[in-house]
Amino acid sequence: TQRCYSTETTPTDAEDKERIVGEATKKSFQAETRKLLDIVTHSLYSEKEVFVRELVSNASDALEKLRHSQLVDPSISADKPFEIHISVDEAAGTFIIQDYGIGMTEEEAISNLGTIARSGSKAFLESLDENGAASSTKDKIIGQFGVGFYSAFMVGAEIKVYTRSVKPGSKGYCWTSDGSGSYEIAEAENVTVGTKIVIKLRDGCEEYARESVVEGIIKKYSDFVDFPILLNQKRI
Ligand code: ADP
Ligand code: MG
Repeated sequence: TQRCYSTETTPTDAEDKERIVGEATKKSFQAETRKLLDIVTHSLYSEKEVFVRELVSNASDALEKLRHSQLVDPSISADKPFEIHISVDEAAGTFIIQDYGIGMTEEEAISNLGTIARSGSKAFLESLDENGAASSTKDKIIGQFGVGFYSAFMVGAEIKVYTRSVKPGSKGYCWTSDGSGSYEIAEAENVTVGTKIVIKLRDGCEEYARESVVEGIIKKYSDFVDFPILLNQKRI
């Protein structure tokens, strides 16, 4: 695997610098998203650590999209490094992943995080309808197809997504959900271009706030990632 870009690392943003400024709008998840989330949040799937792989892969995709759009339009600025920053805090029980990638507009956050685009998840839900709801079938999707972003709800009691699109003039937004029927979205200040996901871990999932555990998980998957990954400011 080729590792590119900076060898110098950049400090991770302060963890709570963003501030909600707008009125929060409450929205319901699309029906099939609700169904998938219900399965994910109640899952007894034992390999919950796959959420790290899914979030790192989304961060990597976002950086790749930014790199591509800069090739197409050199006026698109990127003053931040092409890096993925993860920070965990055992005392706070949080897992945070930030990328300085393409980010999302409000509309993109609503459609990308509120509806299911993945074909694997759709196929899974269809097979559930046909085969009933055996828990082994449910675990199959999580392991085999993957559930992308939603896998974070296996470990997260509450998830906040701060995002700002690289498109000129874009504002920052905070998307929040506890994985039940709805989510909220509000304008936010001090959001860096890219995406930062803050996971408040569920009871019983405290291990994902432990640096040594998370380091081991990242090492399993990071060989497939083209961008540097930092854990609590240290290059993995
Ligand atoms: P997939 O990656 O297969 O498209 P996911 O559920 O993992 O499905 O993510 C859904 C969508 O949410 C992505 O396609 C992308 O548009 C958006 N998204 C998720 N994470 C990020 C991120 N870190 N930066 C920008 N967009 C993201
Ligand atoms: Mg993905």
